Amino acid sequence: MTNLKKYNDKRNFTKTNEPKGKVSKTKKKTLKYVIQHHLARKDHYDLRLEYNGVFVSFAVPKGPSFDPKDKRLAVKVEDHPLSYGNFEGTIPKGEYGAGTVMLFDTGTWRPIKDTKVNFKNGPIKFYIHGKRLQGAWALVPFKDEKYLLIKEKDEFVNKNNINKYKTSIKTGRTMKEISDNAPEDIELTSPDKIIFKNGKVTKKDIYDYYKKVSKYMMPYLDNRIISTVRRPDGEDNFFMKHLNNESKNLGIKKIRNKEDENSDYYYFKNATGLLEEVQMNSFEFHIWGAKQNKINNPDILVFDLDPDEGLSLAKVRRGVKDLKQILDKLKLTSYLKTSGGKGYHIYVPINSVSWKKLEKIAKDVANILLETYPDRYTINMRKENRKGKIFIDYFRNKKGATSVCPYSLRLKDKATVSLPIKWSELDKIKPDSITIKNIDKYLKRKDPWASFFN
Ligand code: ATP
Ligand code: MN
Repeated sequence: MTNLKKYNDKRNFTKTNEPKGKVSKTKKKTLKYVIQHHLARKDHYDLRLEYNGVFVSFAVPKGPSFDPKDKRLAVKVEDHPLSYGNFEGTIPKGEYGAGTVMLFDTGTWRPIKDTKVNFKNGPIKFYIHGKRLQGAWALVPFKDEKYLLIKEKDEFVNKNNINKYKTSIKTGRTMKEISDNAPEDIELTSPDKIIFKNGKVTKKDIYDYYKKVSKYMMPYLDNRIISTVRRPDGEDNFFMKHLNNESKNLGIKKIRNKEDENSDYYYFKNATGLLEEVQMNSFEFHIWGAKQNKINNPDILVFDLDPDEGLSLAKVRRGVKDLKQILDKLKLTSYLKTSGGKGYHIYVPINSVSWKKLEKIAKDVANILLETYPDRYTINMRKENRKGKIFIDYFRNKKGATSVCPYSLRLKDKATVSLPIKWSELDKIKPDSITIKNIDKYLKRKDPWASFFN
């Protein structure tokens, strides 16, 4: 039996933001793994391995080493709740573990041989499937609660020092950024960090951009569950469904997934929430077709036209026009935006319907298009069915699916924008031609989507 009494007794939850300890009832096949870099009285790394609904936890003063020759001391500490695996932030002065906690690595683990693990008698040999740590590892007990953490020989052995990883695997923040993050007013850290090499677009440029467009963008973000794309190091992109920024400007909505687990989804309560996410290195924003307070009644129908590689822009535009004609015939008022990538997106605001109904409408429209021009379109997701055709992606209309929010930047090579445009501009504006640099003249004109919410 596991319990988290020790964990709870050590902490005062009126003072610390750490999660309260509750043993999870899980029957999942995969076991979570996490390492947190914890700058407390002493700098160390906490290795946590899910077992029986809790994280069995070890404090590793020097952190793991990728070299099998190094034996790193690991001291077993009290079990932690699985919710601790999302915790990143600061623990206030005077509280247990006071200091800064950064999510260093996340993933899954599994024992190599046994299904039952005896953490007392060991040695425990196991695989880690993380982002920074991988392959086979061993925990060898040697005295009381003391163990040695050793990398086993395999292809993941290397000469890297873990010190080379200075940022959070989840938010891209450094230790300093985490401890500086004042929740009240946004302090933009690393303003000069280059996010787009092409055009030398910095984090500050992006922050200023969102500040400028927030008044246009917020109506589309309003109460909608968001996913974001983060580019913390200015290079790699991370698509995030679950944020971990505790803020009064961010709303949390619990949604049950297919595995019947509740997970936390997020929505912005105001433009400050959006800007706080930019500070957290989220530069691209995707939205659901439903609002969080009407989660089973979507009110936006979306069509995404994905052309086969190399298909001419003329054909893409023809596709958009074909679709518009069908929507017109069905008396569905549609709105056009650039995707900021290879295509265009068409939104149709509708009176709330069920997800089933929404998908049915989308599928019917796609089928009409397909029957009218069988050589031009496909509704099959597989790339090999797309030869010379456009894929009508109506699957965006399922619960949980997202599309990029109007006015969002795209984390492509250059800083393109997914911008609402007039139907009459379809032939003039390329899907990726509006960028952070040239958007101003489009913002000055009358909003082409002004009647969207009427
Ligand atoms: P393009 O015009 O280049 O096709 P797009 O926005 O339509 O641009 P797609 O690749 O067709 O890009 O569609 C991606 C959509 O899928 C996004 O709008 C996003 O909401 C959703 N999505 C789901 N998971 C991911 C992910 N891991 N990364 C990026 N997008 C994702
Ligand atoms: Mn697309």
